Amino acid sequence: MDLPARYPNLHVSRHPLVAHKLALLRDRSTEPKKFRELVRELSWLLGYESMADLATQPITVETPLEPMAAEELAPKVGLIPVLRAGLGMVDAMLELMPSAEVWHIGLYRDERSLKPVEYYNKLPDAATVQICLILDPMLATGGSSSATVDILKHWGAARIKQVSLIAAPEGVATLSAAHPDVDIHVGAVDRALNERGYIVPGLGDAGDRQFGTFAGPSSEPGHGPGDETAEVVRRLQRNLVGEE
Ligand code: URA
Repeated sequence: MDLPARYPNLHVSRHPLVAHKLALLRDRSTEPKKFRELVRELSWLLGYESMADLATQPITVETPLEPMAAEELAPKVGLIPVLRAGLGMVDAMLELMPSAEVWHIGLYRDERSLKPVEYYNKLPDAATVQICLILDPMLATGGSSSATVDILKHWGAARIKQVSLIAAPEGVATLSAAHPDVDIHVGAVDRALNERGYIVPGLGDAGDRQFGTFAGPSSEPGHGPGDETAEVVRRLQRNLVGEE
């Protein structure tokens, strides 16, 4: 299935450095310290690509020799890391845009239904930025992202982009169907979701791999029961095929 042809809002990086760093990130032997460094480096590269179409406005700069016409970024940018795995993407984005605001929205994915549940939201009444970048290393079912976009649109964000290191086709389809105006910038689109809602081949749990929180074999991707979860994944996959 040619996803970029079907979803014009999907932008998959073709940069060789992204491909190289993703391979290292996926490797099961990559330790949390190296994993965090790679998340940061990939966020920098994908962040750079995702902002290529942002508007600029004219300013005048005094060089040591003379004044000159230059440009500065026009929109105010907000970063919205999806807790907790998205936190590892924030520093790189702030290096690119030091004046960006960071807003936290807490959604967790119910383990069985895979539905997002909001537990933290301190956004002020009116939007304080024009463009929001949702940061989530893994675009899996698309449920959390769609719910975050709902919240941000209701807040008044004029433009929203999603930046992820790896996406599943099911997640791209869900987010694009709900919000076709949201650009999705990713390093790679993998084969599918497995019956537990993990991206395959993927890299496992991006939160656990960054923060070293491994709870044993029963919590590993691909293990344990979860009939309800498997049914949700099957429904997403039927939707995807049904669109063809
Ligand atoms: N979240 C992860 O961390 N990994 C996946 O594969 C899917 C969701």
